[in-house]
Amino acid sequence: MMNKLLISGGRIIDAADSFDLIGELLVSNKKIAECSAKITKPASAQVIDASGKLVIPGLVDPHIHVSGDEPGYFMLARAGVTTALDLCGFSEEIIPYLQSSATGLTLGFLFPLSPGRTVSGTNPDKNELRKVIEKALNNKAFGIKIISGHYPLTPEAQHKAIEICNELNCHCAVHAGSTEKGSNIEGLEELAELAGDLPVQVAHVNSYCRGQITGNPIEEAGRALNVLKSMPNACSESYLDVMNGTSGRIENGVPLSNVTKNCLKAGGYQVSAAGLENAVKSGWARVNGIRGKEIVLLPPVEGYEHFKAKNSDVMLSFAVNSPGAAIGIATAQSGGRFIVNALSTDGGKIPRNTTLAKALPLVRFGAFSLLEFVEKACLAPAKMLKLENKGRLSVGADADITIVDPDTARAEYVISGGQIVYHADKFFEVPGTLFSYDGRGN
Ligand SMILES: [Zn+2]
Repeated sequence: MMNKLLISGGRIIDAADSFDLIGELLVSNKKIAECSAKITKPASAQVIDASGKLVIPGLVDPHIHVSGDEPGYFMLARAGVTTALDLCGFSEEIIPYLQSSATGLTLGFLFPLSPGRTVSGTNPDKNELRKVIEKALNNKAFGIKIISGHYPLTPEAQHKAIEICNELNCHCAVHAGSTEKGSNIEGLEELAELAGDLPVQVAHVNSYCRGQITGNPIEEAGRALNVLKSMPNACSESYLDVMNGTSGRIENGVPLSNVTKNCLKAGGYQVSAAGLENAVKSGWARVNGIRGKEIVLLPPVEGYEHFKAKNSDVMLSFAVNSPGAAIGIATAQSGGRFIVNALSTDGGKIPRNTTLAKALPLVRFGAFSLLEFVEKACLAPAKMLKLENKGRLSVGADADITIVDPDTARAEYVISGGQIVYHADKFFEVPGTLFSYDGRGN
């Protein structure tokens, strides 16, 4: 087995050690062994010519969805992602596919608190919450996701859940919104109050700034950034895609998810089963469906057929995100630091794994330096997840590397633990790895 790999001639960028140089990177025994302008090729090394390419740490995506099937794993690998956090997962729907897909992904998942499904109702008490959370952590979850923006819990129940996660020192991500406030800027402001100085991951900050409250997404982005500055122990991520992702499920004649309801309103459709059908037919609601190993946005006619065949139980994407708000949120700094820590995609099996495709043009535009891009796409999310050997090219770090063509903003090679996972439209079998609450510190 080849255990040495020399990546030669590329522009190597690392935010941990702040370097940006044209040179060579040597991988040995699954780790970064050396990085410098010139390395003499060890006799046994395989060589990758990276001339004209960017050599960066494998992307770390702190907000994705893969639970339940395989396509998301392939979509992440193709997008250059080597480490990710699934924000709504169940161990029985994660572990088998992490193994069978073999795309070299290092993956953790957050168990969702969902009223009527994983907790009894909208206002579970502290005893119930503690039992559910402890059970999830024993079942290999990395932490907990409060998905109250879709399926509301009371503010009190969310506060209790955040407190319990803090007591247990487990990761807690929140999609803002409650029985009192929507999945919007007011929901985010409410989250800041109920989290106080407790640690939480504020999920997809851009998604609260769609102009639902003020009619002005840019103004709401300003409010969101102020909210985050008032949360000293929170971490946060935002994505750059215009499309969102939500559930199409209809129950008792209405869409189940509050986000889906908002999207119908935003497009001028009735909030009903008939309104949703019309939105699917017209192409305002884009049905996610499988093509080969990938999930894509189906064209409207095919999407409508799939929606009917699945009895509305499909993922939908609506073009509801404001690009202006997204860019402002991704690039804003305060005191020399980014206000929102990391770039995410909320992708995986939702077809918008677009960090390279969307953020590299922002580098060209001058909104980020390449070093800042690598910080937000690799290093900062690894720190959020306390994965000290990820998101960096320091000597001794895990050899997770993505080689990017700067002209196409696509991954040419994706390398995980020193092994090539993806190149030239082909996937090579590399085992995946789970990181979990009990596995911390290994
Ligand atoms: Zn999500």
